[in-house]
Amino acid sequence: MATMTLRDEVSDLLQRLIRLDTVNPPGNETLVAELLRDYLAENGVEAELYAKVPERANLVARIAGRSADAPRLLLLSHTDTVLADAAEWQLDPWSGELKDGEIWGRGALDMKGQVAANAVAIASLAREGFEPSGDLIFAATADEEVGDDFGLSWMCREHPDAVRAEYCVNEGAGDRIDFGDGLVFYLCSAAEKMSSPFSLRVHGRSGHASMPGIADNALVKAAPLIERLAEFRPEPRLEPEMAAFLRQLVGRDVDADEALDVARGVSPLAGELVEALLGLTVSPTIISASQKRNVIPALCELTVDCRLLPGQTQAEAERVLRGVLGEGDYDFEWLEGQGGTRSPLETPLWSAIESFVAAEEPEAQLAPVCLAGFTDSHWLREAFGTVAYGFFPMRAMDPELAARLIHSADERIAVDDLELGVRCLRHVAEQIGG
Ligand SMILES: [Zn+2]
Repeated sequence: MATMTLRDEVSDLLQRLIRLDTVNPPGNETLVAELLRDYLAENGVEAELYAKVPERANLVARIAGRSADAPRLLLLSHTDTVLADAAEWQLDPWSGELKDGEIWGRGALDMKGQVAANAVAIASLAREGFEPSGDLIFAATADEEVGDDFGLSWMCREHPDAVRAEYCVNEGAGDRIDFGDGLVFYLCSAAEKMSSPFSLRVHGRSGHASMPGIADNALVKAAPLIERLAEFRPEPRLEPEMAAFLRQLVGRDVDADEALDVARGVSPLAGELVEALLGLTVSPTIISASQKRNVIPALCELTVDCRLLPGQTQAEAERVLRGVLGEGDYDFEWLEGQGGTRSPLETPLWSAIESFVAAEEPEAQLAPVCLAGFTDSHWLREAFGTVAYGFFPMRAMDPELAARLIHSADERIAVDDLELGVRCLRHVAEQIGG
């Protein structure tokens, strides 16, 4: 143990985490919680398990702060993963194999890598006798991928004192992006769009399919509505994160109307990054109509994935979307609304992450982004007003490759990035708790 470096320690821990199958559903996150509890205990950090049902435990550990009034920092991660089809993989998804400087397996990027780095950060600080001003908290929670209320939502409601914190570092970003011309950004997510799917129930009149003239085909009536949604381009709107991002990119204030062109002018990648963040997006994804080939459907039901800007309301979006769809024989219904929160950009946590980037790579900048999807950060922002950012720096692996591997085959993480992550988390903990 004495000769083990943090690099070896985090690699070994990640390999052991990957070998525990926590595909959600069913999750079985207690396997990981127990392993983490043992690892932390060996390093003198007490942890507690909180479980709504025995097999789906959340783990929380802390180094108590010197003062109850000083801000607390929560290192947050989730321990479940999405499924993996072993037939699509080059290596066994639960092997945790180390090959060419990368650790392979489901969850390596999303997000057992960050689970391991968080654990090693708090364990190593504890071994060194670190006494933070406010509590340093480590939470490894269940059920992020499905969100059936076994994880952080349940913790915030039933055990708020365990996870309440002023600051939180979670998953979501950290990619190093080189836009050329010396513009190197590390992205930090400070906001997330709201997942706000809706359904359209289009009405017609059934009839025998051999005589289309006597019926009113709901499926056919849905077609122009789908086309209108596909062609819809919202009025561009510049939210604080994208405004700051573009200012850093081109060194001046940018208007909403020119934002996409300006970003594309810098690089196609910058254009892709900005495009979905200038307004709400709609993607029709599921359709169902008649269950019988020879029956013209009286009802066609369409499900549309829709993402709103943080702060944008469903009422406002519905007015826009009804305008796009026009009058018709349909019912519009929101199916849910999750996420859509943000944290401010000028905070001590931002400065702490920024100073890490400056120390690691002086020519690089920390730049804010809004995520098109959402993470568990929104529970903390909603429950406690926590300043939560998504940041896990990734320098060795190409960000486009990483984006392709998440939730897909051959997921893996570079050991260099794991080690960088541990350094970053230790730095942030020392800055906030120093
Ligand atoms: Zn995740």
